[in-house]
Amino acid sequence: MEEKKVILLRYGEIFLKGKNKNIFERRLIENIKTALTGLEFKFIRTQNRYYIEDYDENLQDTFIDRLTKVFGLHSLSVATKVKTDYENLKKAIIEYMPEEGTFRVSVKRADKSLDMTSPQIGAMLGGYILSKNKSLSVDLYYPQSEIFVDIRESGYSYLFRDKIDCAQGMPVGSAGRGLLLLSGGFDSPVAGYRMARRGMEIYAVHFHSYPHTSELAQQKVIDLAGKLTKYCGNIKLFVVRFTEIQQAIHEFCREDFMITIMRRIMVEIAEKLANKNGCAALITGESLGQVASQTTQSITVTNEAVKLLPVFRPLIGMDKYEIMDTAAAIDTYDISQLPYEDCCTVFLPKNPVIKPSLDVAKKEQAKIENLENMIDIAVDTAEVMTITPDC
Ligand code: ATP
Ligand code: MG
Repeated sequence: MEEKKVILLRYGEIFLKGKNKNIFERRLIENIKTALTGLEFKFIRTQNRYYIEDYDENLQDTFIDRLTKVFGLHSLSVATKVKTDYENLKKAIIEYMPEEGTFRVSVKRADKSLDMTSPQIGAMLGGYILSKNKSLSVDLYYPQSEIFVDIRESGYSYLFRDKIDCAQGMPVGSAGRGLLLLSGGFDSPVAGYRMARRGMEIYAVHFHSYPHTSELAQQKVIDLAGKLTKYCGNIKLFVVRFTEIQQAIHEFCREDFMITIMRRIMVEIAEKLANKNGCAALITGESLGQVASQTTQSITVTNEAVKLLPVFRPLIGMDKYEIMDTAAAIDTYDISQLPYEDCCTVFLPKNPVIKPSLDVAKKEQAKIENLENMIDIAVDTAEVMTITPDC
């Protein structure tokens, strides 16, 4: 081997300190390998970096696309690996030579068998670059381009320049598992993304009111979950038939409380599913004040229907525009804007209550005959699917 390309991966430092380091790191490595499923490569772990080697360079963009979505990775660089030898370093560094401006060569030398120090090697390689392009100049303090040369003890060196940002965050699965209430809208996929970024493994639940909602609406949710898997890994999706409950709400309850009660029952079912499936939290896409069911009072009344689990609402303080920007960045935007009805819009009251009273909500809910039984049936008959990146 004269020289070859490798992908150098840097991970966030914060979570790799202290007692939990091993757990986090094991999880991160597993997630990297899962993200690269179906591709051939060699994974190399060193003290504070990982390398992807022996991969098909024609597929480099695919590798980069998948790796930049792995939470817990900080940045990556495509690097050239050469056998350590001054001539090899000179040959390889030309590729990273900037076209104009100032530069510096930063050398890290773990291999102490070399006869030059790091600054000497840097000066030698910098001089070589200058001899190739006289319009460049060296600036050791504020260079416009910085070329890194990492000389390892193994007898190999790595050269690279640009750093590509990765998704940051914590490795998925390092913070337990959450159950995302996933509708077809813009918000809930973004909420799932944000909690996955904090290390939560994501399961999802979707409520449908077939035949009042179409099968296309359900496919939309499957497609949204598919997009999320690129960041979250596989997602178990529970599809709950909500038709009978929604009809009963319509039949028995005050119209302006219909959405409030629907939300209460949704979270009750979600909590039951979460408990059965090892999920330690519920996640919703609520954002304060966005609609009548997301005022502080409405959220209080919904929340009261959850017995124990925390309800994470990562979008609570975000504007719609910020949420849309994230939706575009994670590629859920185009799917979310498809016009299929969600079950919330099927029996939409004209004037939903903005400040619901908990007492009234409970009294109205109590009018529904046989509700507990319907809830149990909804939980027990939930359809389960595993969504993978190729779904
Ligand atoms: P989204 O864009 O996520 O649909 P939204 O702004 O339309 O949110 P609502 O329809 O009021 O808001 O829903 C609030 C939250 O309730 C959603 O973010 C989602 O977490 C949950 N939710 C709403 N409808 C459903 C559904 N059919 N299945 C599962 N969860 C739902
Ligand atoms: Mg919605």
